[in-house]
Parts: sequence; C-alpha cells; structure tokens
Amino acid sequence: MKPSNIYLDLLKRHFGFHSFRSCQGDIVDHVCNGNHALVIMPTGMGKSLCYQIPALHFANIEHADDRKPLTLVISPLIALMKDQVDALTRKGVAATFINSSLSRQERTQRYQQVEQGQFDLLYVTPERFRKVEFTKLIKKRHVCLLAVDEAHCISHWGHDFRPDYTRLQEIRELLGNPTTVALTATATPVVQQDIVTQLGLTPDNIQLFHEGIDRPNLALDIIKTWGDDEKLDYIQQTNGSIPGSGIVYFTLIRTLERFSERLRENGVHHLSYHGDLPRARRREVQNWFMEDECLVLATNAFGMGIDKESIRFVIHAELPGSLESYYQEIGRAGRDGNPSQCTLLYDEADLATQMEFMRWSNPDVSFYQRVYDLLEHDNEKVMAFGIDWLKEKLHARQKHDRRLETALGMLDRYGVIEGSVANAKVKVIKPLPIDITDQKLAEQKLRADQEKLYQLVQYANHEGDLKNFIHQYFGIPSK
Ligand code: ADP
Ligand code: MG
Repeated sequence: MKPSNIYLDLLKRHFGFHSFRSCQGDIVDHVCNGNHALVIMPTGMGKSLCYQIPALHFANIEHADDRKPLTLVISPLIALMKDQVDALTRKGVAATFINSSLSRQERTQRYQQVEQGQFDLLYVTPERFRKVEFTKLIKKRHVCLLAVDEAHCISHWGHDFRPDYTRLQEIRELLGNPTTVALTATATPVVQQDIVTQLGLTPDNIQLFHEGIDRPNLALDIIKTWGDDEKLDYIQQTNGSIPGSGIVYFTLIRTLERFSERLRENGVHHLSYHGDLPRARRREVQNWFMEDECLVLATNAFGMGIDKESIRFVIHAELPGSLESYYQEIGRAGRDGNPSQCTLLYDEADLATQMEFMRWSNPDVSFYQRVYDLLEHDNEKVMAFGIDWLKEKLHARQKHDRRLETALGMLDRYGVIEGSVANAKVKVIKPLPIDITDQKLAEQKLRADQEKLYQLVQYANHEGDLKNFIHQYFGIPSK
C-alpha cells in the first residue's frame, strides 16, 4: 500500500473520516517520515489528528528498538486530557493520561501499565517531568513521537505561559530527541521562533505548517461606536436580521449584565455565560447553545469545547485583550462554510479597561516579594484567613485589582507554593525564581503586553483589508 493510503486507512478505521482536512495529510506524511513539524491551525480545524494518525502508524511498524513504541503528548490542561483520552478510547485507540487528578492507587497502576508496554498514546502535563519516578518510567518506552499541544505556552509573552514548557529541550534530550510536532492555534512570528528555540531545534530542521482562518465565508467589520446605546442597537439589529446563532463577547461581567438587562427589557431572548455563574449553570447554558439556535452574551470563559458549526455571527461589544484572542474568538463563526459576520464594536473608552487589566496582570517585582514574605513569615494567618487577609495586607482591595491572583498563579506555575491556590491558603516550598525577581524581564513583559494592545488598536483603526492585517500580524503567508 502507498504510504498515503496507509494513513487514510487509519483515518477511516479509527476515526470514520474519509479525507484529511486542509494540510492534515501533508503533516501526517511529513511526521510519519520522522520529520519535525510546527503546526499552526485555528481551533476546531483538527490539530489532534496530526499526531494521532502518526501515533497509530508508529505503533504498527517495526522499530530497531526493543522497547515498545509510544507517542507522548504534552498538554497543559488537565481538564481537557480526560475528554481527549475518552474520545480516543471509544474509537478503540489505546490512549491514557497521567496527571495529578489520579489517586495514588490509580497512578501506581497506570505507571505499571505503561511500563508493561500498554497504550500507544500517553498524555501528560509538562510538570510531570519534575517527578524522577516518571523520568525513570518513560525511559522504559521508546518514545518515537513527541507531540507538544498548545505550544504557545512556551512563550513568556503569552497569557498562557507555563514555565515547565521552557524545559522542552531538556525533555526532548531525555527522550532521545524523538520526532517532534508542536501545535498551536495562534502564534506570531516571535512566538514561532521561541517555540523552535525552546525545542532545541532550528528553523531549517522543523517545517512550519501555517493554516490561517482562511474562511472566505467570514465577513470582518469594525464599527466605531460611542456609548452603550449604539452598541445595543447594533446587537439587536444583527440578531434580528441574521437568522441562526450568535455570540456577543464582553470583557467585563458587569457590562455583560448591563446589556443582558437591557435586552431583556426589550424582549430580546438570549442566554448569558460568564465565569461567575455556577458550574452547573454554565454547563446548562452550553448545552442549550449547542442544541438550539440562540443568542448568547459571554465573556471569554465561553468557547472552550464549543464546536458548534453554525454560528452565524460573533460580535465583540468590548475590545478584547489582543489580536490573538480576537482571532480565536471569531474563529468560532462559520465553521460550516456558510456566510458569517464578525464585528468589532470599537469605543475608544473601552481601551481604559484593557489598560487597567494590563496593569493588574503585571505585578512588579516588589509586589511578588511582598506576597512571598507574607506567605513565608505569616503563614499561620495566611492558612487561617486566606485571600482576604492577604489583600488587606497588600493594599490590593480595589475593584479589578487582580495582582494577587496573578502573582499566586505565577508562583504556582513555578512550583514555589503548595496548597489551595484559589483561596490563597498556600505555603512556600521554594525560593522565588530569578525569572520573577528580574526587573528587566518584568519590564519586557509589560512592554510586550503594551505592544499587543497597540496592535489591536491599530487593527480597530485600520482602513484597509482586515484579513490582510491579521495575516500579517500572525505571519501567515498570503496565498
Ligand atoms: P483543534 O485541536 O485544532 O482545535 P481537534 O483536533 O480537537 O481540533 O478537532 C476538532 C474537530 O474536528 C473534532 O471533532 C474532529 O473529530 C474533527 N475533525 C478533525 N479532522 C477531521 C477530518 N479530517 N474530517 C472530519 N472531521 C475532522
Ligand atoms: Mg486541540
């Protein structure tokens, strides 16, 4: 059989699909031949198959290695691992995960199974490599493919930065430098470069596959507005004239609620979705949205795992934080290929919210130091009173002041603290890493955030072709 037929056969047999989408086939071919790939493809287009088909292929062929072949998938989100593994298992693919959600007993069993050569795919977080037990285990398998999902987490400049992703070169060496495929939905040229470097590769030995949202069916538009009324009019008008489902994105829950109230008064039927709603309610809203045609007002908490094909419009009623998030969010429209409208309602006054966010998400070095000192020296009080007490001490009680949450999140990612991060009942277990105490790095990060917002404002004021602007920003080659 020709190689391309072998891959198609795997695609049909395990996934029930009859053809590859866009450049999936080329990527599979490239990776199955032992070549490295950096895959940039919008969410929902099908990045997973780009390593799952090679994983099945590598599991089937002969290797000059006594150990059983394995594809290792590094993924930052524990929450998504279980769903991905369950979906694969239903398709008869031998996949599993190891992460901190497992009980000690389950974990021991999983380790044994992996050691005995069970499973063709194993999903882990990068933090797993902190455990000697795991690094010993993984050497007992022949890792023939390393897949790094959500590879943008490598970048210091992204909001999703994961310190352990910067250890990928070391991890690759430990695994014997296997064929590597890194995947992400969005990466600017700077981030692409960063990914390649962190993997210990150079641009000549990793091939870039860059698939932008090349959906001619998406119509992009920017409308300058002033005040709530103009925005409300546009939302009602669009909702009234475009049949089918739509999403209106907001930055602040407060604004979302204000609009929801007014739409209700005007008799416009809609759903609301944001992070302050109880989990059960969010699930319910998500289910309704998937089943019916409707309008949903949402913050960026809405979207993960939404793969409704027929979203006819996405309106941004407030300025998002960056073109990365804007691009991700409009990418949810029109997956079925039918005409869909994506509009940014731009009110200059909204810029202030993003500027404020930026300030709060970049605590300075001395703030980290103060948090660290409190956690270390007043730990009894911290454990007793948690986040409120800390905020009081840090004079961080202003609305939207999320510096403490940001700092705790970062300390957690660096493995500096241990305990319940959500309510700040944590204690320190390591000194502050130099990455956090480095004033220069902090300034660079703030400047990078400012630049992102600046680019978004440029976009909002752009008078030429909007898709071109986005393509240039992400370095997507024009076709
Ligand atoms: P991404 O990781 O890029 O966001 P996924 O890999 O999760 O996307 O795939 C999104 C959806 O697209 C899944 O439901 C998947 O089954 C479907 N899909 C992927 N490739 C194909 C294909 N070649 N044919 C049909 N459906 C596909
Ligand atoms: Mg994915």
